[in-house]
Amino acid sequence: MAHMEKIKLGISACLLGENVRYDGVHKLDSFLKDSLGKYVDYVPVCPEGECGLGAPRESMRLEGDPENPRLVTTHSKQDRTDLLVEWARKRVVELEAENLCGFIFKSDSPSCGIKRVKVYNEKCMSVDAGVGIFAKIFIKHFPFLPMEDEESLHDLGLRKNFIDTKSCAGHDKINLDNHLFAVLRNFTIEKIR
Ligand code: SF4
Repeated sequence: MAHMEKIKLGISACLLGENVRYDGVHKLDSFLKDSLGKYVDYVPVCPEGECGLGAPRESMRLEGDPENPRLVTTHSKQDRTDLLVEWARKRVVELEAENLCGFIFKSDSPSCGIKRVKVYNEKCMSVDAGVGIFAKIFIKHFPFLPMEDEESLHDLGLRKNFIDTKSCAGHDKINLDNHLFAVLRNFTIEKIR
């Protein structure tokens, strides 16, 4: 690993232990921060905090049409969709300059979740069919970038798929493949310890 340039990964900031969640605490993932973190430079992003809602804040959830849900505060029922969308459209343009090789999202979040996020109807029934508001805009803006959530990266097979990807734009392929191979080897070593 010596002299190897680190690749950049975007990440939901709460996974690195930043106290940005609605309840003012974090969702530290030690594997991502301490193990993978040795080999990559993270670019942390917290959509809900960065769009101006701060922390702590009222929790939110997706409501309405699972294909096109709204982001609504859980108790006071304020619709935050437009605020987050406007911020996200600017943020993804800023992120172009970071030359990211991938993004690790927080699972189940109405802002960051990339799959099976709960969407509630008017009877408070939910379906696991939504995509978080920021994640959806990010996916559309960077359609070929590898991305996963932290839950999936706990699965060794899915983790290998994420690391093995060849679609990291803007990097020399051979160097990148060598780098990712080294990262994966270290993953595996740590996993079997
Ligand atoms: S899941 Fe996303 S929006 Fe929620 S605290 Fe984490 S980074 Fe912020």
